[in-house]
Amino acid sequence: MSAQISGKTLFTGIIGYPIEHTLSPSFQNAAFNAVGLDWVYLPFAVAPKDLESAVLGLAACGCRGLNVTMPHKQAVMLIVDDLDESARLARAVNTIQLKGGRLIGYNTDGLGFIRSLKDETGYIPEGKAVLIAGAGGAARSVAVALAGAGASEIKILNRTRQKAEEIVGMIKSDFPMCRAVVGEIDDPAEVTGHDLIVNATSMGMEANPEGPLALDLLLPTQIVYDVVYWPSETRFLKAARRRGAKTVNGAKMLLYQGAEAFTIWTGLPAPLNRMAKALDAELRWSEESSAADKQPTGKNNIRSQTDNSGATQ
Ligand code: NAP
Repeated sequence: MSAQISGKTLFTGIIGYPIEHTLSPSFQNAAFNAVGLDWVYLPFAVAPKDLESAVLGLAACGCRGLNVTMPHKQAVMLIVDDLDESARLARAVNTIQLKGGRLIGYNTDGLGFIRSLKDETGYIPEGKAVLIAGAGGAARSVAVALAGAGASEIKILNRTRQKAEEIVGMIKSDFPMCRAVVGEIDDPAEVTGHDLIVNATSMGMEANPEGPLALDLLLPTQIVYDVVYWPSETRFLKAARRRGAKTVNGAKMLLYQGAEAFTIWTGLPAPLNRMAKALDAELRWSEESSAADKQPTGKNNIRSQTDNSGATQ
């Protein structure tokens, strides 16, 4: 973040509701600082009824780019002028570029997921069978990214079956080579026969710590990925690790989706090491200091404005 805000400082930010637990300001401001840009990244709490006026108002004020988090990722598609292929396929926007007076919607969550999965496990989705628990915004991005990366089968399990059917319909229409099906969330046998199992529900966070699926039949050859990044090891990941499986949490997905957004806004390569350090510090600080309220506080990004070496996006 710029050491001093001046009349020349440019701004970006994140809109969501609520927004106070966002971790993105920590690593985006560290990134601007690292590359010497006089830019800042700010959180904006925007109620659903105010979404359009907030986005257009921020654009009118010269905002350079926005991240979009719950609950606006789908509604904002109706406000932007153009959709990048990534957002069109995921039917959700998590990043807006403001360019030449136009608002262009992107989705960087899927790319963040694939990149983190490869980074942490070397996993290549091509020709593989994948099981995804959840059918919200994160599940959509993950499912579309895996289908785009060549997964041969995607099975979706969700409490609300109709939402799983919607994602299956999206994959069937855009990726006909991928076999997409809905499974039974309560059937413990669903975990068998899949190389990769993803928790893309919000289960596992402190308010709802249980995992989405029984893992009694999990084998050590399977990989278990949890998009939740706080706590760093959910009960679901702990259970998977105890059964010998390779486990990955959502922290690097968060980092990589943010790095991609940084590049979209600035045209510069993201200073990944600095961003990773900043996020790591923020997560550690949250884990250590929030025993009382058990939520990521996002406070580190306010605490250190000049060298911010630091659950929503
Ligand atoms: P969302 O659109 O609200 O979807 C929530 C999902 O969780 C739905 O499938 C919902 O099922 C399921 N769920 C919630 N509570 C449940 C319960 N008690 N029992 C069973 N299922 C339950 O949220 P989202 O945007 O997809 O986010 C999901 C998680 O991903 C959040 O923890 C978020 O922080 C995380 N995330 C991480 C990253 C990252 O970069 N690592 C990026 C995006 C999101 P129903 O459809 O039945 O309601």
